[in-house]
Amino acid sequence: MDAQPNSPEARDILYHLHAYTNARKHQETGPMIIEKGEGIYVEDSNGKRYIEAMAGLWSVGVGFSEQRLVDAAMRQMSKLPFYHNFGHKGHSPLIDLAEKLVKMAPVPMSKAFFTNSGSEANDTAMKMIWYRSNALGQPQRKKIISRKRGYHGVTIASASLTGLPNNQISFDLPIANVLHTSSPHYWREALPGESEEQFSTRLANELEQMILAEGPETIAAFFGEPVMGAGGVVVPPAGYWEKIQAVLNKYGILLVADEVICGFGRTGEMFGSQTFGMKPDIMVMSKQISSSYLPISALLINDRVFEPLADESNRIGTFGHGFTGGGHPVAAAVALENLNIIEERDLVSNAREVGAHMQKRLRELASHELVGEVRGIGLIAAVELVADKATKAPWGQPGALGGLANGLLQQNGVISRNMGDALAFCPPLIITKEQVDTLVDALKVSLDAAA
Ligand code: PLP
Repeated sequence: MDAQPNSPEARDILYHLHAYTNARKHQETGPMIIEKGEGIYVEDSNGKRYIEAMAGLWSVGVGFSEQRLVDAAMRQMSKLPFYHNFGHKGHSPLIDLAEKLVKMAPVPMSKAFFTNSGSEANDTAMKMIWYRSNALGQPQRKKIISRKRGYHGVTIASASLTGLPNNQISFDLPIANVLHTSSPHYWREALPGESEEQFSTRLANELEQMILAEGPETIAAFFGEPVMGAGGVVVPPAGYWEKIQAVLNKYGILLVADEVICGFGRTGEMFGSQTFGMKPDIMVMSKQISSSYLPISALLINDRVFEPLADESNRIGTFGHGFTGGGHPVAAAVALENLNIIEERDLVSNAREVGAHMQKRLRELASHELVGEVRGIGLIAAVELVADKATKAPWGQPGALGGLANGLLQQNGVISRNMGDALAFCPPLIITKEQVDTLVDALKVSLDAAA
């Protein structure tokens, strides 16, 4: 790009390595700089306004201009800008948030533990699980099963749980003790003529075979997102979680629900675990917990996890884990206020009602020549593009068509994200039906231009 010397664009190219970006290409293309936000919209440095149809990174539930969150942060910042929860110390926002989360949980939970990001929370879950196995006198029970296409973060352990090649190639991952089973991507991976129930049964059988081959006494836990997000918005097929849960119960394996995207209303219920009848032992939450106004994440653990952990910490003398910023008071105060807003404004019902409208409107595009599948639930969806609807073949390199359509959509005023050829839509929970209509109309114009 022809950036003016010393402009923000030029300085970005000079000084800034972007996350999740082709670093070499960025030197040519330069950045898109977002300056401000209002409601479901953001505005770039050229004054162009966009519908932020990804809610940032699947996360800004209450929209980009919620004054109550700003006020909550300022109040807490002036009162106590930092404190920690090491060694029996604590502070009120964190106690209030812990109580709120434990009481909100859709299954009995015992304690909340606080971290700063989804990755750290999943890392922490893995460490707690290993600690528990040792506490129970089962040091061989350390293997963790997650899924291809699953996304759990980027730290060494959570990137190992993630089942996407870009998070592992050249990083020398995954680490040992992590196994990946098939993803429940019915449209892509079902056999010809296989029903959703039959596909789910096959995946549950595959999981059981993996457990038996490895030795059930070596398997500690299974990690899964209720709906896979970054893997392409994969909604589980009929019967999937029920059958997976039955296999886990049979062998005494813990279930970790990664609610980092689904939590706090996204699927049209407070938690994705409710939508799919999951009974997790650990719930991992982040993003929409604070609408990402400040970084904070949390784990909820039940007594199956807490009791042995408490015994082991007593034997050793401490639970030797925790982060300086974990459960930061300002982030906790913002999260509490955010959860109050979600409840008071019943944004979960909005996600269900406006979500149903979004799903219906997007499905009108299913007959478009470039659309292979439209899938989703509540306010999360993907439109997967193909060159050939019958064979589901991509158009040139996988991701080329998705990238083209995403670029056109952006020109037409909507920010989406293409995961390969799947365009994702995960707007703020406050979106209205009229705003959904504008979004879908822009998508249709963009797909027509790409065809
Ligand atoms: N788990 C899920 C389901 C996610 O979608 C993400 C991020 O997108 C993470 C974990 C990692 O969260 P973070 O980026 O905060 O580390």
